[in-house]
Amino acid sequence: MDCIFCKIINGELPSDALYQDQEIMAFRDINPMAPVHILIIPKEHIISLANLKDEQTVVIGEMVKLANELARREGISERGYRLVISSGIEGGQVIPHLHMHLLGGRVLSSKLY
Ligand code: 5GP
Ligand code: ZN
Repeated sequence: MDCIFCKIINGELPSDALYQDQEIMAFRDINPMAPVHILIIPKEHIISLANLKDEQTVVIGEMVKLANELARREGISERGYRLVISSGIEGGQVIPHLHMHLLGGRVLSSKLY
């Protein structure tokens, strides 16, 4: 599978991994946009939110749960943080493997567009 995130999951590409279990994985973004910038992904190759099947929505809850836990571990839980999932070209998604950004550690712009 010619997918960067699948290669990170199977160990073909290195990553600064923070967590993994059977379903999900978290690692630091290679080009951080904030002091804390972590990517949380399902291990299953789901292309985007738009491609998420109803029976796969449970993984999003697992990703949010992990993001909240990592925010606590990174010390930004009380200060505040943002979770972002971009879907598709106009949504700004570059890597076609579903992923959630956990961003924090600085004041984030209130403008989303
Ligand atoms: P998108 O724009 O698709 O929502 O986000 C893709 C993110 O993946 C970007 O923030 C980018 O910096 C990050 N990224 C791209 N390639 C790699 C990589 O090989 N390793 C890591 N850790 N992050 C990557
Ligand atoms: Zn993939």
